[in-house]
Amino acid sequence: MSALAIINSESEQISIEAELVFYGKYATADLAQKIVLEINQMWNEPNAKLQLGSRLFDIVFDIKYSFLDNYEALLKISNNTNYSVNFVRIEDKNIAERSMMGFGLGENSGHWLITDQLGESTTAAHEFGHALGLPHPDLLDFRFSGNPPIMAPRGTIVDADFQWNPLAEPGALGGTMRPIFRRVRASEVLQVLKNLNPENLEALEIGKLTNQIFDEMGRPVALNQDLTFE
Ligand SMILES: [Zn+2]
Repeated sequence: MSALAIINSESEQISIEAELVFYGKYATADLAQKIVLEINQMWNEPNAKLQLGSRLFDIVFDIKYSFLDNYEALLKISNNTNYSVNFVRIEDKNIAERSMMGFGLGENSGHWLITDQLGESTTAAHEFGHALGLPHPDLLDFRFSGNPPIMAPRGTIVDADFQWNPLAEPGALGGTMRPIFRRVRASEVLQVLKNLNPENLEALEIGKLTNQIFDEMGRPVALNQDLTFE
């Protein structure tokens, strides 16, 4: 995902703004609302602050959504130069067999699956983190440190309370992280702003504009050849 961080020196607030443009067969208002609510709630939960010089800035996530039909999405993607705009196709299956935000980190276009319980499972908030350029943590053992961070992937080792089965041995079947227990940490919010230059306090562009449109199965569509994609 790409986003814009707007730095307001007067109110001492950094606002991270992005719009998710949904398209595809399963892009409904109900689902979009749930996804965006999960992202805003989870990423605002740690109330992260950033010290710039002698001042402490509040970091606030302000994520919005809209819908387009497939053809409108194609037109908008081919003309997009705005870092705050992201395109997400929602379907029930794809070739990657998981929700994905492009093929690298920080991309502004993706293909998500309704079977990932988007908006109810922390998956949307996790994908949002990838989209803003965050990788999985290097260390995949978060025992003795509370809830695992939002960027922890499936298979992460956690305290018994956060496992699928609290009675399972760590790492054994049922003995890994149940994703619903992930929480955004303040350190992860700060990682999103790691390229912020204190000398240029206006706006920071986060991520990159890949402006990729996907077909129903999540295959990239070349913009100049196929205007009749499904
Ligand atoms: Zn991941």
